[in-house]
Amino acid sequence: MTSVNTEGFKAESYYQMLEEKDKILSLIYDTVGDVIFALNVNSTGEYIFSSVNQSFLNATGLNRDQVIGKNVKEVIPEPSLSLVLGHYETAIRTKSSVSWEEITPYPTGRKIGEVRIAPIFDQNDRCKMLIGSVHDITESRNYAKKLEDSMEKVAQKNYELEQMGYVTSHDLREPLNTIQSFSMLLKEELSELDNIGNSEKYLEFINSATGRMQVLLKGMLDYNVIGKQLQLKRSDLNAVVDVVLADLAGSIMKVEAEVIVPELPTLNVYETELRLLFQNLISNSIKYRQPDVPIKIEITSEQLDEKWKIEVIDNGIGIEEEYFERVFHVFQRLHKKNEFEGAGIGLSICKKVIDLHDGQIWVEKNQPQGSKFCFTISNELV
Ligand code: ADP
Repeated sequence: MTSVNTEGFKAESYYQMLEEKDKILSLIYDTVGDVIFALNVNSTGEYIFSSVNQSFLNATGLNRDQVIGKNVKEVIPEPSLSLVLGHYETAIRTKSSVSWEEITPYPTGRKIGEVRIAPIFDQNDRCKMLIGSVHDITESRNYAKKLEDSMEKVAQKNYELEQMGYVTSHDLREPLNTIQSFSMLLKEELSELDNIGNSEKYLEFINSATGRMQVLLKGMLDYNVIGKQLQLKRSDLNAVVDVVLADLAGSIMKVEAEVIVPELPTLNVYETELRLLFQNLISNSIKYRQPDVPIKIEITSEQLDEKWKIEVIDNGIGIEEEYFERVFHVFQRLHKKNEFEGAGIGLSICKKVIDLHDGQIWVEKNQPQGSKFCFTISNELV
């Protein structure tokens, strides 16, 4: 009769399982990118390296014999040594893990590490071991620093550009005014003389050029000022549009435009800026009308998930699809200055206003004729 020793079997497979687990753990220990080490705390309170993983050796450039069994004082140089000893003591005193950031000049290069130390206590409440790990954050820190530096530079450049834009548009208007006034005076004086040749014509040119420059500079100034003194306010958009329509009443009546405005939402908006947007869109619809066709402008609104979509639709001359993007850029115009007056800034102002509202603005063709300027405004601006 054969008997099977099941106890022996169990013990054997248990040891096999432990061995297997041990192998896996030491594989993880030596392949993990983070530095891991264990320190025995001896009876005199000295910290002795009892185990280090491969990443520790790679980072320090030391070999196992130079570390295992050695006191931390022999391995870690000052000033790091005093710092880490302080943290070890805190971990033991508070009986909890402690972490800190450390810059270490390893032989493999200067590294920034996130160090964590956890104390292990015996039954007599004496700390017998410290387990430590160092997560290398050199790259992410360097990257964050570079990003921060670049952001600072961009902000500085932006500020300089804004200032320059403001000064240019504001200060240049002064000498222009002077040119304009004196050319008017000159024109008056010339009109009293008999033979003035082409002088009057030349003065007309000077006047119209300076007038146009005034328009451009005024546009630049408006563009620059947007976003300077922002005030978010709960506003009824119907009231906002009403103010704009009242301001434009003269030109609306002159061209007998029909303006249809349904019930619009009440939202948190930058009211002054949004008024400027409606003013630009509606006055463009009037300006870019089709000759001999009664103007119809319609404003619509629709609630989407977390935003509102608003459209300003006209039956004017429309815009070719290839220019849909370009028209929102500063100084981009699709017409000659003698066809339609303008600085090419109105739609870039609209874009800036909608950026402030975390929204989007675009243009589509209206069917059968005209343009549809659509924009979104977030529901939850705070
Ligand atoms: P401006 O009207 O001063 O030229 P905008 O930035 O307001 O500048 O508009 C840019 C260009 O987009 C205009 O020159 C015009 O060609 C085109 N545009 C704007 N609005 C309309 C519209 N409602 N219908 C047709 N074209 C338009």
